[in-house]
Amino acid sequence: MQAVYTPAHLAHDITVETFMGVPIPANEVAERAEKIRMALEADGGFDFLGPSEHGEDPITAVHDPGLVRFLEVAWSELRRQALGRPFLTADTYPNRNMFEGMSPEAVAALVREPQQAAGRAGYWGLDSAAPLVAGTYGAARAAVDVALTTVDLVLGGARAAYGLCRPPGHHSARSMYGGYCFFNNAAIAAEAIVRATGERVAILDVDYHHGNGTQQIFWNRGDVRYVSIHADPDRAYPYFLGRADEVGEGAGRGENLNIPLRGGATNEDYLAAADRALEAILEAPGSVIVVSLGFDTYGLDPIGDFALTTEVYHEVGRRTAATGRRLVVLQEGGYHRPSLGENARAWLRGAEGRDFDPLPSTGFGEHGVVAG
Ligand SMILES: [Zn+2]
Repeated sequence: MQAVYTPAHLAHDITVETFMGVPIPANEVAERAEKIRMALEADGGFDFLGPSEHGEDPITAVHDPGLVRFLEVAWSELRRQALGRPFLTADTYPNRNMFEGMSPEAVAALVREPQQAAGRAGYWGLDSAAPLVAGTYGAARAAVDVALTTVDLVLGGARAAYGLCRPPGHHSARSMYGGYCFFNNAAIAAEAIVRATGERVAILDVDYHHGNGTQQIFWNRGDVRYVSIHADPDRAYPYFLGRADEVGEGAGRGENLNIPLRGGATNEDYLAAADRALEAILEAPGSVIVVSLGFDTYGLDPIGDFALTTEVYHEVGRRTAATGRRLVVLQEGGYHRPSLGENARAWLRGAEGRDFDPLPSTGFGEHGVVAG
């Protein structure tokens, strides 16, 4: 399988994030992508190539140009204001109740993007969990190019291709970044496929978290079906979206399927959910599935609470490919670094119909058995 990778992600050099106001060692770090790259290289069955530049148009096809401009200048703006911070995060978010009683027209006319970086980050940001540094914009743009190059491979005839996107994307909405995500790589990829082929596209999101951004972008759309298996938002980020009764509106009604799972979900629970998700995807026409691939569903993941093992990733990869559709597989989350490479290998080998043999040097046995 061909795998698209660029070292440009290293510029998004994150070491600290905030969790409920307290600085903690970052989860979404460069080492994640490097672990995956090394495991796929050691496998020997993956051909790596770099991304080609696709410009800004595919990004503004799904994102507000204002978000793009903010992300482009945010760091220099922070510096211009002489704010000595290791990363930018908002001071104030516009809670919806700040405008209670005002008409939508009044809000549109009177509420505008602030000038200070601390306010601008709140205007465009969802949360305090997406630290932005000097190299964030370049890395996020490169991750989009990785996704779009993966699309090119599949539209060029590959049955499946893998884009090692970092930063991830599925929490980014049309006009909002957040949750470690800046541009929505999977949504940009899906939109590019719709525009290139005129076909319907399905997105299968198997990250531990609900992809609120992808859901938002296609909420009213009848040509992109979004199906997500994730932790119930009653207990997990992004808290406010991801419930089973969110089905889309207008032309998009029935095109959004959320499958929230309980804490401690097992391989068996997961495979049942995956079968339901794939069945829903096959109910609609189309020849390509964009996969938002996350491994924070793993039993040892520091921010997830599922009990999955590496074997299940191989099987989900196999069943996804067994739909007969071509796969644009894009990396989202996954924060247990020792297992990331093996879990990615397992999923992608499953998608190619290859068996999975653990690499001897990765300590797979140690990590693969514990979570059983
Ligand atoms: Zn996640």
